[in-house]
Amino acid sequence: MDEIERIKYLRDFLTRCSYEYYVLDRPTIPDSEYDMLFRELEDLEKVHPEMDDPASPTKRVGFEVLSEFKKVTHDRPMLSLGDVFSYDELREWAKKVEEVCPNVEYSLEYKIDGLAMCLIYEDGYFKQAVTRGDGVVGEDVTSNVRTIKSIPMSIPYKQRYDIRGEVYMPKAAFEKANVQRRANGEEEFANPRNAAAGSIRQLDSRIAASRGLDGIWYHVPNDINASSHSESLDYAKRLGFKTNPNNILCSSIEEVIENIAKTAEIRHDLPYEIDGMVIKVNSYEQQNILGFTSRIPKWAIAYKFPAEEVRTVVEDMFITVGRTGKCTPNARFKPVKVAGTTVSYATLHNEDYINEKDIRIGDTVIIRKAGDIIPEVVRSVHEIRDGSQIKYHFPDTCPVCGSRIYRFEDEAAHFCLNIDCPAKVVAGIAHFAERNAMNIDGLGEKKVEAFYSIGILNSFEEIYKLHTHKDEIINLEKFGQKSYDNLIESIENSKKNSLERLVYGLGIRQVGEKAAKILSSHFKTLDALMNATVEELSQIKDIGPITAVGIYDFFKEESNIAMINDLISLGVNTEYLDMSIGESSPFTGKTVVLTGTLTKYSRNEATALLENLGANVSGSVSKKTDFVIHGEEAGSKLTKANELGVKTLTEEEFMSML
Ligand code: NAD
Repeated sequence: MDEIERIKYLRDFLTRCSYEYYVLDRPTIPDSEYDMLFRELEDLEKVHPEMDDPASPTKRVGFEVLSEFKKVTHDRPMLSLGDVFSYDELREWAKKVEEVCPNVEYSLEYKIDGLAMCLIYEDGYFKQAVTRGDGVVGEDVTSNVRTIKSIPMSIPYKQRYDIRGEVYMPKAAFEKANVQRRANGEEEFANPRNAAAGSIRQLDSRIAASRGLDGIWYHVPNDINASSHSESLDYAKRLGFKTNPNNILCSSIEEVIENIAKTAEIRHDLPYEIDGMVIKVNSYEQQNILGFTSRIPKWAIAYKFPAEEVRTVVEDMFITVGRTGKCTPNARFKPVKVAGTTVSYATLHNEDYINEKDIRIGDTVIIRKAGDIIPEVVRSVHEIRDGSQIKYHFPDTCPVCGSRIYRFEDEAAHFCLNIDCPAKVVAGIAHFAERNAMNIDGLGEKKVEAFYSIGILNSFEEIYKLHTHKDEIINLEKFGQKSYDNLIESIENSKKNSLERLVYGLGIRQVGEKAAKILSSHFKTLDALMNATVEELSQIKDIGPITAVGIYDFFKEESNIAMINDLISLGVNTEYLDMSIGESSPFTGKTVVLTGTLTKYSRNEATALLENLGANVSGSVSKKTDFVIHGEEAGSKLTKANELGVKTLTEEEFMSML
């Protein structure tokens, strides 16, 4: 394809994408890819001015407006923003600005990922809300915007007042909306921005009202009451508008960059998505000197954070078998970078998930990191299939042991029921040894697999006999005397663990860490727990009837009783060691957040200790948090605690309070 053809192709393709994005609220490519192709088109158009076309996506803002809503022509065009994707590009932009206007003060604010909106007030009353539309003509969505509770319906200012900003869907509302859509069998929203846009375009305002939308207001065009952007926002705030909560004034572009880097660290803790930061020249006088292009102001720019959603191709699908025999399908992708790390695999959960999303081998899929940790498939892009994609057929047999696998009624998962399935045995032993269970260092899944394969580790009991296989172990690849000594010491130490670790390690169905703890503190000894009736078990708070039956059945099974007796004869403790220090602790009844790396305790140990003291250990900082205990390299949670005035404790201070 030569450059001219490429220009034509990109114009067609990006126009289609814009239609899907702005009109249908259903993008088929991630924004990062759109931005990249948009850039390519801009660059090609610069080289080929003879190809000038006012209909090119690079010359337009947004998209045509839908016919269902009344069309409104904006008083002043609602423009888009130019964007940059690196600090160097940002520095270049600033250089151009400072060539025209030396001594610039920059205002830096969140780029909220929603849809632009203009609110119009007359005689002190909210009169109209208009979307950006194509920048010149927007849609009248007043009745829907009226349902957003944080928007003032009247203001103490009698002249006409226009204020622009972003209507967005908070992350929590987005999750909730998608849960509901899944339950209704509707297609999920691709992201909070499309969800917000889709909600605002509802003809029935009750639907918009139910979606939990909010708004943040960041621009007053033609503000006669102010001489700068920051002054204008202060005034808007006094009038009752929710303005950007973190507007920072910076005296140089380097200071801007420093603050962007800080925000990048905490952005995932914010209750709404931000996809970048907007940098604006603060003085109105200087803004006027700099002016506009037809599409964007020259006095502002958006710095976009690196892509969080990317496209890749499913190269294969395969099943892994867990300790309960659960057969989980997984996708192997062409490796791709997302949110800072390279991703090659993601779980596909179960057969229904694959069918609902209709994911096939060879499909192009959009992936993202859920909660920034676990990669997940957002959807597969069916539109660009070429016929070579292969539908995945869930296997009938276990890929590890070859026995038949079963899917029970009301269960989404398939299970391998063979108790001797090597995958189950290995995963079960690795679970027993894991940090939150018996905490045996050096006995991860790979090691268990290696010992299993040479026949020296087939059960929990045999962990405590590993010292009789010293030669075999030392001869294994990557295992020396030192690793061996450490392993044996760690195994020995695990015998002294409190009962809840053992109960959790046994891997009884439905008994997670929390239930293990509840059961152990209730019964105090394994013997008492083993002899409990279903009634006794189900009377315990937080132990449901199904779990109670599961526990009862587990301890009635002959082979389990024999295994436990073996563990006891090998010296494993079966009593609950109460570590609570009583009611006088300063942490009793308090909400505590841990952050950073502690040196004296692992995160789990510190959590257990605090819980024993009666504290509620939470994962996120809010106004309700009583203490934030921080170790080395603490990040955003500590910053947030300081911002909210929450009491913070170093590890030493924490220990001295114990
Ligand atoms: P934009 O989102 O890149 O930036 C401009 C917008 O930022 C403004 O209109 C405003 O709505 C918003 N904004 C948020 N906070 C702001 C603040 N503090 N000050 C000023 N403005 C603020 O530009 P756009 O024109 O709205 O949309 C283009 C974007 O849409 C591109 O980034 C592209 O990724 C995406 N898009 C994607 C597809 C797709 O198929 N995936 C198609 C078309 C467009």
